[in-house]
Amino acid sequence: MKDPNYGKPQMEGVQYCIRCCIPATQESVKFDEMGICQACQSSEQKIHINWVEKEKELRRIFEEAKSKAGNNYDCIIGISGGKDSTFQLHVLTKVYGMKPLAVTHSHNWFSETGWYNLVNSLEKFNVDHIMFTPNRNLVNRLAKKSLEGIGDTCWHCHAGGSAFPVQIAVKFNIPLIVYGESIAEASGRSSYMKPLMKFDRDYFERVSIKRNPLEMIDENISERDMKPFFLPTPDEFEKVGIRLMHLGDYIFWDDERQMEFVRDTYGWKETEIEGTYKGYKSAECIMPGMHDFTNYLKRGYGRSTYQASVDVRNGLLSREEGFELSKKYDKEIPESLDYYLKITGMSEEEFYRIMKEKRLDEIKHIELPVIKKTRVNKERILPYTEQLIEKEEQRRKNEN
Ligand SMILES: [Zn+2]
Repeated sequence: MKDPNYGKPQMEGVQYCIRCCIPATQESVKFDEMGICQACQSSEQKIHINWVEKEKELRRIFEEAKSKAGNNYDCIIGISGGKDSTFQLHVLTKVYGMKPLAVTHSHNWFSETGWYNLVNSLEKFNVDHIMFTPNRNLVNRLAKKSLEGIGDTCWHCHAGGSAFPVQIAVKFNIPLIVYGESIAEASGRSSYMKPLMKFDRDYFERVSIKRNPLEMIDENISERDMKPFFLPTPDEFEKVGIRLMHLGDYIFWDDERQMEFVRDTYGWKETEIEGTYKGYKSAECIMPGMHDFTNYLKRGYGRSTYQASVDVRNGLLSREEGFELSKKYDKEIPESLDYYLKITGMSEEEFYRIMKEKRLDEIKHIELPVIKKTRVNKERILPYTEQLIEKEEQRRKNEN
């Protein structure tokens, strides 16, 4: 007999987009009068955009950057080792002949696959690279504070990943910073027709960093610890004339095709990602499972809902199939919870208590089930750098 709940969403009584699987609990989501979310509207606009014209605009921006750069780098590109980084490096260096300075703010949670992808891309594209790595102890303390502060585990990555490329742009006097996917692509924050034109300091503080570094200071975290996470001052922004752009606003973005391209052309690798059915987003990190599980506990949906919605928009899944995938994966307790509890010294009870407090008021009455994950994760949930050290220690032990 057919399951009567087949194809129905997780949360009863909550508005969902009538096209995809995105609920009204998504941060800054907007629905039109028909009940269609902004990401779905954007995916429709995307078909009607004159991409040939857009590409000409892109060429003009790059030509201008090159002519102004002189002996300096043409632009900054933030790379994580993810598939977007590799694709962006391909576009910049191979298609447009740009000389970028690649910068990485390490979350210090590199997966083995992610580490390989990062160094592989540096070798394949021959780019100069700067990486900043916050120390292990600070990352652990911030991971704890992050949950209490913003209700996910990853503040240091949101904040550092936003601030570091801009800090380097200021230090090296390189005004153009190139990002990948358009903000219109999958978030409700802008559309292709109304792109966010001004990516100023306020935008960074509100949207990417989520919380001013000063607010993270407590008895365990000093102002000095926070140094790497501050944005340059408005004067510094102004002086260098920082400009930010997303390649996805100029070239037709297709995650799936791009992943296949970088995989087949440059040997980029996917891996298993906890909490979802796709293996190519956030493959660089061991903790996306925790990031998305906390989102589920706060907002009632996780990464599989998000990815299924993209697939529904692209006609790869029906909306019902999307809801079934999200019900299967979003509620799974990730293996990375164990690692998180270990590095923060938090108990499981404390974790769930904090997450209960963080749940949005409008869904406080709804029960959000969690289930034990029965598959063993393909990749070890331990930062790859620590795995290397452990391996060497083991080798020495065996020798003696
Ligand atoms: Zn939608």
